[in-house]
Amino acid sequence: MAKFVYDFIEGDRSRADLLGGKGANLAEMTRLGLPVPPGFTVSTDACRVYLRTGEPPEGLFAEINAHLREVEARLDRWLGDRHDPLLLAVRSGGRYSMPGMMETILDIGLNDTTVHGLAARAGDARFAWDSYRRLIQMYGRTVYGVPAEEFERELEALRASAGPAGPSAEQLRDLVETYKKVFAAHVGHDFPQAPHEQLYLAVRSVFESWNSERARIYRRQERIPDDLGTAVNVMAMVFGNLGPDSGTGVAFTRDPATGAPGVYGDYLPDAQGEDVVAGIRNTIPLPELERIDPASFRRLMTIMATLERHYRDLCDIEFTIERGRLWMLQTRVGKRTAAAAFVIAAQLVQEGLISLDEALLRVNGAQLGQLMFPAFDLSGAPAPLAVGVGASPGAAVGRVVFDSAAAAAATEPVILVRRETNPDDLPGMIAAAGVLTSRGGKTSHAAVVARGMGRTCVCGADALRIAPERGEFAVGDRVVRAGDVISIDGTTGRIYAGEVPVQPSPVARYLAGELAPQADPLVAAVHRLLGHADAVRRLGVRANADTGPDARRARRFGATGIGLCRTEHMFLGERRELVERLILADGPDEVAAALDALLPLQRADFVDILAAMDGLPVTIRLIDPPLHEFLPPLHELTARVARAEALGEDPGRDGRLLVAVRRMHESNPMLGLRGVRLGLVIPGLFAMQVRAVAEAAAQRVREGGDPRPEIMVPLVGDVKELAAVRVEAEQVLAGVPGAPEIPIGTMIEVPRAALTAGEIAAEAHFFSFGTNDLTQTAWAFSRDDVEGSFFGAYLERGIFTTSPFESIDVKGVGRLVRLAVAEGRAARPELTVGVCGEHGGDPESVAFFADAGLDYVSCSPYRVPIARLAAGRAAV
Ligand code: ADP
Ligand code: MG
Ligand code: MG
Repeated sequence: MAKFVYDFIEGDRSRADLLGGKGANLAEMTRLGLPVPPGFTVSTDACRVYLRTGEPPEGLFAEINAHLREVEARLDRWLGDRHDPLLLAVRSGGRYSMPGMMETILDIGLNDTTVHGLAARAGDARFAWDSYRRLIQMYGRTVYGVPAEEFERELEALRASAGPAGPSAEQLRDLVETYKKVFAAHVGHDFPQAPHEQLYLAVRSVFESWNSERARIYRRQERIPDDLGTAVNVMAMVFGNLGPDSGTGVAFTRDPATGAPGVYGDYLPDAQGEDVVAGIRNTIPLPELERIDPASFRRLMTIMATLERHYRDLCDIEFTIERGRLWMLQTRVGKRTAAAAFVIAAQLVQEGLISLDEALLRVNGAQLGQLMFPAFDLSGAPAPLAVGVGASPGAAVGRVVFDSAAAAAATEPVILVRRETNPDDLPGMIAAAGVLTSRGGKTSHAAVVARGMGRTCVCGADALRIAPERGEFAVGDRVVRAGDVISIDGTTGRIYAGEVPVQPSPVARYLAGELAPQADPLVAAVHRLLGHADAVRRLGVRANADTGPDARRARRFGATGIGLCRTEHMFLGERRELVERLILADGPDEVAAALDALLPLQRADFVDILAAMDGLPVTIRLIDPPLHEFLPPLHELTARVARAEALGEDPGRDGRLLVAVRRMHESNPMLGLRGVRLGLVIPGLFAMQVRAVAEAAAQRVREGGDPRPEIMVPLVGDVKELAAVRVEAEQVLAGVPGAPEIPIGTMIEVPRAALTAGEIAAEAHFFSFGTNDLTQTAWAFSRDDVEGSFFGAYLERGIFTTSPFESIDVKGVGRLVRLAVAEGRAARPELTVGVCGEHGGDPESVAFFADAGLDYVSCSPYRVPIARLAAGRAAV
């Protein structure tokens, strides 16, 4: 017959699937010889049968009885015994910790008879009646759904009338009578008196609690599968509510907030466990237990040290002291903050408990990311004005401005507030401390650009009614005007009126070279673990950077080159007019003149970037976006031309621009005239850019530098496209004296390029996966539209658990990547292969790229340390 029940002495911590986390760790502590009250665990197998059929597996209660008899024999105390009754705790506990989400019922075994036995045995009638009323209350609520307030109300009334010494035994006995009436009124029958029936029903209701509303919500949030089921732990009760020499508490072996070694926890004298959670009385700090009960305190310290050495990690524990005797009721490897994760991992290495490799696996990129951002000090902060999507983390405070020009002109920190942003807002976004929009999600323009710059951004705050023309926005009836100070939290999405104080991040300052590694324990821990990641990783980490300052920052953050330098950002601002000239050019001479005007500007940009990355590769992508992105929007031009015509004026240049914009209009610009296609149809455009790169490099060589530019062609789908560009580029390069050898490669960002990578590699010195476009084209998802429309529904329905734009879709897009790597390398073994999409900074994607055998990832400067850590983790 199948086995469903395991004594604590049978299990161990490796069997958490079967016994649940709590049961497995109770068994582990029992094996370690720690003082755990005897008991047994009903397995998750049994729960799964129950969830499937609505009934416990056949014979389960007989099996429970057999194990119960063993416990009884060991303690020489029997469930239901009228003189010395055994009481039981029945506790839920699934594979993954779901604190407080499921049920636990204490004091099982009490009834109108055994309560007297308990009183006599303990020499304390108050305690016995108090335990009985606890049982009716917990049982009523858990097994029969009696509203908690019904009991609470009676208890409160008694407490109020009882005076400082608390209720007497008689009063508690009366309370039990009242409770029984409340129970019967709600349930329709009396409180069950048979102890074994109490036990069986409690086990069933713990099974049931797996599917309680709050448990289901919690699981969805934590991505815990719904079909695991919970185990049920049945164990002897120990009593923390037996007077001043008893009590109950929780403890951590280190501070879970900071990781600092020491004694952390709370203790509540003369209480049972649920009192701590309920917050009925104030707990005292655990170190005070040393004064109250030095022997138990010392014992607890010894046990905590044993557990840490055994689990080789921070543990949290629950314990109870019964009349000076310490009992362990729970332990697990404890949850901790990002800071504590780093500090503890480094400490454990120091203490010789774990290796550096293992320490790397105890922290992750997301945690490092959290530590790099400044944070609000929320003590005393007002309630948030509104909550949007936390799109780019950080804490920003500034005066409200509504347009890019005002942001760029500001002398004080500002928050740029827009309904949504577009490429025109770039200067304002660069100048602002933070960006706030009322539309769009995590992949909106505002979000993507802000993340790239490390700028704090909250987007999609749809409670905001933004009226730039009036210079204000409103939330409900609150109005915030231009110039008012607001604070935005890019991690939580919260928006506050006024200034919330900000704490700078010491980790970010260390990474930027402004703080010594030994500055504080956290910085020292980050230094140690990141250093180890760098030592073991095989994946290079480059940065996406378009300007000298960005390149310098990226280098400080540890980037060993630039994987993506976008040239289109160099066409914005005042230079936009030159691009307009190019577009409006009539005939080859005008085209050439417009390009000639752009050449020196591009060259100067490249000189700056090559200087910042001296000695390291700089991959420069030729212009990629559709050119009409550089022209004013159609509606704006139409209005300007109409106004001029109404006044009887000549619209002049606007008129010609309008014609051009109409001519260039595309229904699907992302699939239109862009990337390599531009280079093939606008003569001289790519040649000008290539010349600017080569001349900049030659200048750097003359200046004594070591420039290593590489030229990258975007959106190639067929080898002939690349070959044509290459012929033109090589002609230009041959004509620039003094330039170093400049490799020419391609992005792989459309499926056809991935599928024909072997052919393409014949013409390419390197590949760089543009995983944003590759995701967009592989899924046929328009990145600019899907987030706000159906992604919510897709996430809800579990079609994917994270957006494929955030974390690489390993099955689909990943397959294209693997195929292209294999065929590309087969055709050209020395082919360098990298990735430069947003995924290059996503820790999970980095692990995939390491596995796929890429040479490097490239990501925004601020994510470089995160990628370094993720690459290190992937290598151990
Ligand atoms: P949760 O998983 O929600 O923490 P637990 O099963 O740990 O629920 O139980 C809650 C509390 O009940 C514990 O913190 C502990 O104080 C108390 N408790 C559990 N088992 C016993 C026991 N055998 N004797 C006395 N109190 C117990
Ligand atoms: Mg617990
Ligand atoms: Mg692209």
